[in-house]
Amino acid sequence: MIELKSLSRRYRSDEIETTALHDVSLTIRQGEFVAIMGPSGCGKSTLLNILGTIDRPTEGRYLFDGEDLTARSEAALAQHRAQRLGFIFQSFNLVDDLTIAENIELGLLYRKGRQGSRRALVEAAMDRVGVGHRARHFPHQLSGGQQQRAAIARAIVGEPSLILADEPTGNLDTENGAQVMEILKGLNAAGATIVMVTHSPSHADQAGRRIDILDGRLVASVAQAI
Ligand code: ADP
Ligand code: ADP
Repeated sequence: MIELKSLSRRYRSDEIETTALHDVSLTIRQGEFVAIMGPSGCGKSTLLNILGTIDRPTEGRYLFDGEDLTARSEAALAQHRAQRLGFIFQSFNLVDDLTIAENIELGLLYRKGRQGSRRALVEAAMDRVGVGHRARHFPHQLSGGQQQRAAIARAIVGEPSLILADEPTGNLDTENGAQVMEILKGLNAAGATIVMVTHSPSHADQAGRRIDILDGRLVASVAQAI
């Protein structure tokens, strides 16, 4: 599904050049659950941003289902994101003055479809993550765990083929983190491909493969029994 070929990302500001990713080659098959680990500043976010097409590599190619995304226009990439990708963040990123149901419907913003069928999709996504009883509440009325589950519902309501999660359990306690991991594993079992950045070894162990990054280079890619 995903093929990165000799991908590099350099940042240049004034005279200083930083290589955030160096010659990264990586294949992720459809249906995989991949965890990415590494110390702060090693390039994890840069890799996730490139996979999410919100950043572009300075060298190398990114193939998605065989199609070269590095050559695509911004408009084509925006459509690609809306149709195929779901994003989950450490800090939830819900919109404060929209209800939980309205927040989740944002995940369908670029989808056509009647109001009735959109509502059914939102309700199905809410039930899947267990926030159906919070539909008319606002984000600040929910616990952190509930907010993150609502954010997951927003990410999956459009049935993306690839879910990108940037430290999805980083702001949660052990129990809520475990709940989020169970939801992600359930989505993966139902067919979604997941790439998750995490600092938690026990959460990384629950993925099907672990990739370690150090100083912008892949240093290990380990298949795991799950
Ligand atoms: P991580 O997510 O693993 O903490 P990042 O991908 O955020 O690492 O950063 C990798 C490297 O690239 C770091 O040295 C960081 O300082 C640098 N970097 C990231 N974004 C920028 C930017 N916009 N401009 C300049 N340097 C950046
Ligand atoms: P969960 O286990 O689902 O994350 P918690 O046990 O943390 O929920 O919270 C218990 C209940 O308290 C929940 O129903 C939640 O909606 C409510 N709650 C948590 N934080 C707040 C808040 N800041 N304002 C209003 N209600 C809250």
